[in-house]
Amino acid sequence: MRKYSKLIRKGIFEPLPNVQFHGKAPLKRFLLLDSKLAPNSNMRVAAHIITKLPKRIPKYCQLHYHKFDEINLILSEKGKLKYRVCLEDEEYTVSSPATVYIPKGMRHSQEVISGHGIFVVILMAKKYKALI
Ligand SMILES: [Zn+2]
Repeated sequence: MRKYSKLIRKGIFEPLPNVQFHGKAPLKRFLLLDSKLAPNSNMRVAAHIITKLPKRIPKYCQLHYHKFDEINLILSEKGKLKYRVCLEDEEYTVSSPATVYIPKGMRHSQEVISGHGIFVVILMAKKYKALI
């Protein structure tokens, strides 16, 4: 084993309903980084892969908040992936490519509306904990 190989990790398939206040969604979620995958990491990273969406998308994310900052990356070609992002009492339609910065304590939810691409969630915390 090489010196730094433990810093390179395979993503782990982990369905969204395993995440507090999230339900079944038409996407594939991979946990890419947490303190189990890399013991000294103080961040969590997950990617949601959106390929083909059904006509009707069920609601799958409840408004919640964290005691740490969250960053979302909405990645695809220009305008090819759209998310509904709720920040407190305001609702936004956000098109790729875009970043959403959610300061700690701000209630939020994010749900895919249309298209294809990758939704990346970066949490500035060792452990996931959400509150409503
Ligand atoms: Zn969140």
